[in-house]
Amino acid sequence: MSEQNFDIVVLGGGSGGYAAALRASELGFSVALIEKDKVGGTCLHRGCIPTKALLHSAEVADSSRESAKFGINSTFEGIDIAAVTAYREGVVAKKYKGLQGLVKARGITTVEGEGRLVSSITVRVGDDDYVGKNVILATGSYSRSLPGLEIGGRVITSEQALELDFVPKKVAVLGGGVIGVEFASVWKSFGAEVTIIEALPHLVPNEDESISKSLERAFRRRNIDFRLGVRFQNVAQNDDGVVVTLENGDTVEAELLLVAVGRGPVTTGLGYEEAGVTIDRGFVITNERLETGVPGLYAVGDIVPGLQLAHRGFQQGIFVAEEIAGLNPIVVDDVNIPKVTYCEPEVASIGLSQANAEAQYGGENVTAYDYSLAGNGKSEILGTTGSVKVVRVNDGPIVGVHMIGDRVGELIGEAQLAVNWEAYPEDIAPFIHAHPTQNESLGEAFLYLAGKPLHTL
Ligand SMILES: Cc1cc2nc3c(=O)[nH]c(=O)nc-3n(C[C@H](O)[C@H](O)[C@H](O)COP(=O)(O)OP(=O)(O)OC[C@H]3O[C@@H](n4cnc5c(N)ncnc54)[C@H](O)[C@@H]3O)c2cc1C
Repeated sequence: MSEQNFDIVVLGGGSGGYAAALRASELGFSVALIEKDKVGGTCLHRGCIPTKALLHSAEVADSSRESAKFGINSTFEGIDIAAVTAYREGVVAKKYKGLQGLVKARGITTVEGEGRLVSSITVRVGDDDYVGKNVILATGSYSRSLPGLEIGGRVITSEQALELDFVPKKVAVLGGGVIGVEFASVWKSFGAEVTIIEALPHLVPNEDESISKSLERAFRRRNIDFRLGVRFQNVAQNDDGVVVTLENGDTVEAELLLVAVGRGPVTTGLGYEEAGVTIDRGFVITNERLETGVPGLYAVGDIVPGLQLAHRGFQQGIFVAEEIAGLNPIVVDDVNIPKVTYCEPEVASIGLSQANAEAQYGGENVTAYDYSLAGNGKSEILGTTGSVKVVRVNDGPIVGVHMIGDRVGELIGEAQLAVNWEAYPEDIAPFIHAHPTQNESLGEAFLYLAGKPLHTL
């Protein structure tokens, strides 16, 4: 049994935990980062990065199929899944190596092993205790299932979906949220027949309704089948495939069923409650400054209720390190965190949907302008359609931006500045967007809302 003392002990080395460790070390704290698997966590090894690599392969497949549209003759010969895997793993390996180097260079003590909170200031790994003046919990999340729906065999989660060494001919996806539509999009581009099952009335149900409807139209054009507003009942599997039965009696047959119904917090059996932490449905409850009810004990990332996104984890990790340093960092509400869904076409948003803005400010006090990418030169060049919707309070700031179309994820940076800085369209309309860029579509919407539309009526 040994004991080591640090200013800060971080349990879990995913986006939230490692960001906290990096910022804390920058601020001069001694830091122990405890990780049972690989630093980088879900996002780097099983989430954001590998899925976006797959989506890029999917985009290249689509481009090569459609190249004649742009005057380039090429032949699409198929998907070499081993090569796709090598490319995906290569991207992850490089980023992992870089992250390990960074953590080391910052002088952070990394501890390999499974940690458990044994007091509000102590994490035990095996026989060793790591004691912190402050402790940050960052144990992340796992792929959830539904009651009675067992994962195994042909019923898989995103972890197994990433590792598949073949392209299924026919696949069913349970859940039309971010992870579900991203995998549906990849598999369709890779040549599979895809059916999405979603209990709520729309795909990407957390988005502005107009965006959900546009995505549904786009997926229909891509022949991605989806069943909306209908609940899953059960699944039977045999050597050849699965039969998914829905509550309305319909059945969907496929080779595989991907269960993408959300992610649950990893908090069970880790000593959290015994240390005095309040747990609600598995999530760690904190105040808005991310402190649990126990002084000096903080939580960040997917275990804190709210949006489960890597960049929220980064921000929360930085926030807590700065909070401990007494720097009084600002709180960013979840609604003002940018969200991108990287399917084809992409969806990106920030702030209030039009409906929520109208509910909050009153319909007569809100104006939304939906700029069609049909009017945007660069989008025409790329061959994409879609729209950029900007929601403002009348005589007030921009409170929401909602976009759909190829590459619109790259436009979210400007949108998040506008919303978080509470910019008025009149303030930013005079600034210049380079031509021809897709960015101009935001500029056109700002100009319109400032009462001086350029390429629109
Ligand atoms: C398929 C998929 C795609 C995604 N795509 C995106 C995306 O494009 N953009 C985006 O922003 N987000 C995306 N996410 C979400 C993102 O991955 C998470 O929000 C993010 O990883 C959360 O970070 P975290 O630090 O809270 O947890 P995690 O990344 O889950 O890290 C927690 C870490 O804690 C470790 N740990 C757990 N328990 C212990 C213990 N007892 N002892 C030691 N270590 C422990 C785990 O091994 C893990 O490494 C995606 C997720 C998935 C599954």
